[in-house]
Amino acid sequence: MTGLSDFFNRPINYLRLSVTDRCNLRCVYCMPLEGVAPLPHDEILSYEEIGLVARAASELGISKVRLTGGEPLVRAHLSRLIGMLAGIEGIDDLSLTTNGVLLSRYARELKAAGLKRVNISLDSLHPERFGKITRIGKLEHSLQGIEAARAAGLHPIKINMVVMRGVNDDEIADFARLTMEKGWHVRFIEFMPIGEVKSRETAVGSRQSAVWSGEGDYRLSTMDYRQTPAPLYNGARLQTEEFVPISEIIERIESLGTLEPYSLDGNGPARYFRLPQAKGTIGFISPVSEHFCFRCNRLRLTAEGKLRPCLLSDEEIDLREPLRRRASVDELKRLIEQATQAKPEGHRLGSGTTARKRTMCQIGG
Ligand code: SAM
Ligand code: SF4
Repeated sequence: MTGLSDFFNRPINYLRLSVTDRCNLRCVYCMPLEGVAPLPHDEILSYEEIGLVARAASELGISKVRLTGGEPLVRAHLSRLIGMLAGIEGIDDLSLTTNGVLLSRYARELKAAGLKRVNISLDSLHPERFGKITRIGKLEHSLQGIEAARAAGLHPIKINMVVMRGVNDDEIADFARLTMEKGWHVRFIEFMPIGEVKSRETAVGSRQSAVWSGEGDYRLSTMDYRQTPAPLYNGARLQTEEFVPISEIIERIESLGTLEPYSLDGNGPARYFRLPQAKGTIGFISPVSEHFCFRCNRLRLTAEGKLRPCLLSDEEIDLREPLRRRASVDELKRLIEQATQAKPEGHRLGSGTTARKRTMCQIGG
């Protein structure tokens, strides 16, 4: 095994595999209300094709693989893919990011197939608000999913909360408290401008519709933001009132006690802390205000087989065509190396550039 590193000498050992662009929810920050036109079945990679990419990647030194989507659990027989990936030598961390809705049905089966752990997205503990953020979800289903994952031994379970001002930011302390009361590992994520997502009006029931604009900078709303000076974070001009920087989230949590730095599992974008006496940890993911590109260790494969060097850039390398003409594993390895070398030094939100071609659910987060 060689070990893969990019042009900037960052070790690349993590592959995120999106298995579908479909989803059973319509979270306001991720998917338009009307959904995205689903890819025809023959345009998405088969499990065998995904397995081949994972094998080639593992031979290059990828050791961590995460399945994502869309919602990965809406794709049929996912445990078959888990079983295939778990059997690949060199992949020692196999995980899944899910909204949790279908976990009560599948958690045991996934664990038995070789899944190690899950991250579950949960943005509110209030049923009505949860319904508005996800547009169609029911809080009880996600909570049942979390419990099923715990019972199946899919540890550690991490809860991802995307914080949005005026939407769920009043729950920051409640989520942080759960690290003490229930031992949960909670990660607070900054809301990211990506793709084209309609927000507020349809979602949370207030104000006008809002569209990510393509030109130059990103506007979440067509209304008054253009007259209001936008906040600057790391040079990124965020014209959205929903954005809450991690520094503010930390301040609000510190009212509960001092945050002690804590190391959970080495690399990854989150910085971890613990409140006094808490069993669970608190993670902060700040892609916008304090970006962590300098330690980025990942590549992403979309459901239709495009390898993305960076979440926040539209550059992609196609693997589906070579897979369908039965390219050798060596050729796949060369393409993976090419994508690795194409990783930019950092995202360019600061200069007003972001990925627009796909919404988050078409990439996988
Ligand atoms: N459906 C699964 C889920 O919700 O966990 C997996 C796919 S989802 C695209 C992966 C992660 O991206 C989720 O944790 C979600 O909260 C996060 N995400 C989606 N859109 C986002 C945005 N605009 N800003 C920040 N995080 C976002
Ligand atoms: Fe679906 Fe996950 Fe996007 Fe929500 S965040 S719409 S659950 S893909």
